[in-house]
Amino acid sequence: VQPTGDEGKWTGKPFEPRRDGDRLYARGAADDKAGVVAHLAAVRALLAAGTDLGIGVTVFIEGEEEIGSPTFGLFLDQYGDRLAGDAIVVADSGNVDGVTPGQTVSLRGIVVLDVTVATLRTLVHSGGFGGVVPDAMMATAILIASMYHEDGSVAVAGLTRGEPLTDFVKDEAAFRSQSTVLDGVESIGRGTTTERNAYSPSITVTGIDAPSTARASNVLLPSVTFRIAARVAPGQTSADATEALERHLASHAPFGAHVRFDAVAGGEPFAANADGWAAKLMTDALATGWDAEPAHLAQGGSIPFVPLLSAAYPDAEILLTGVGDDRSRAHGIDESLSLSVLRKAITAETMFLATMNRRGTDAR
Ligand SMILES: [Zn+2]
Repeated sequence: VQPTGDEGKWTGKPFEPRRDGDRLYARGAADDKAGVVAHLAAVRALLAAGTDLGIGVTVFIEGEEEIGSPTFGLFLDQYGDRLAGDAIVVADSGNVDGVTPGQTVSLRGIVVLDVTVATLRTLVHSGGFGGVVPDAMMATAILIASMYHEDGSVAVAGLTRGEPLTDFVKDEAAFRSQSTVLDGVESIGRGTTTERNAYSPSITVTGIDAPSTARASNVLLPSVTFRIAARVAPGQTSADATEALERHLASHAPFGAHVRFDAVAGGEPFAANADGWAAKLMTDALATGWDAEPAHLAQGGSIPFVPLLSAAYPDAEILLTGVGDDRSRAHGIDESLSLSVLRKAITAETMFLATMNRRGTDAR
């Protein structure tokens, strides 16, 4: 799970589950301990029914997802044959809300890159030298601004947009409200919420190494390092995106500032086979379990182990379901799970496993 954030802001204790009506509050209640519960409960239900369904089930609990699954690739190299299957169900994505289930069809990839901009050998008096030679912060500010168009969309040549795999578009007003954007602050980018959030690249500067205001003095800074977390649209590799970013930053460095790159982390985007036999079975199972037609969701986030799975098992279908809803606040304060959603997720997964042996026959 993610860290709790400021524990004092939680209504209860983050690691002591608290039930309030249909909701269970705790860190990890939705993201993603309930995913584990859904898998185990579905298997338990089938065992209790006692019928031989003619399928094998392997349950694997991956505990490094929130830190980018750094050792999962090595694990797959060593033990991958034990996890091989025709379909892989990952219950770490989301639903539209408590009424409409989601079947996730794509994820963005991610590139995390540190960029160091240098203009001087050492810091010097800002009055004595300012106005004649550039300081690194000035060059950094100009360089960061060069990555965006006026409307906030990404202006880095070579970062590509993907072809949407779903018609489902999140309502912009609801999207904005969930984002906590302040009154009067405009939306950015071009296209529908789905096109902007899930099928376009985005660049976020997530950290900057420079003196804090408390430690600031009147000098020209010789160098500044900032961290970029760029999301990569489906259809582009993270290596390709990294190259585009580095090319842009190196060629846009103002005043001939020196630029150095240090790769921090990366993960590939993912696009599901939404028309596959297992995907169709899952659509039916979700419709039955939730008593509502599932929406095909495109997510702006990344689950780095999912593309590792698709690379390791190219013939397996990867199905992304979830146990959270629009009120779950994953990673946030007072994270919660809807118990009725959990019940529906368990029913859907049980239905999926119970119908899996129909592969090759018409599921409907
Ligand atoms: Zn998470």
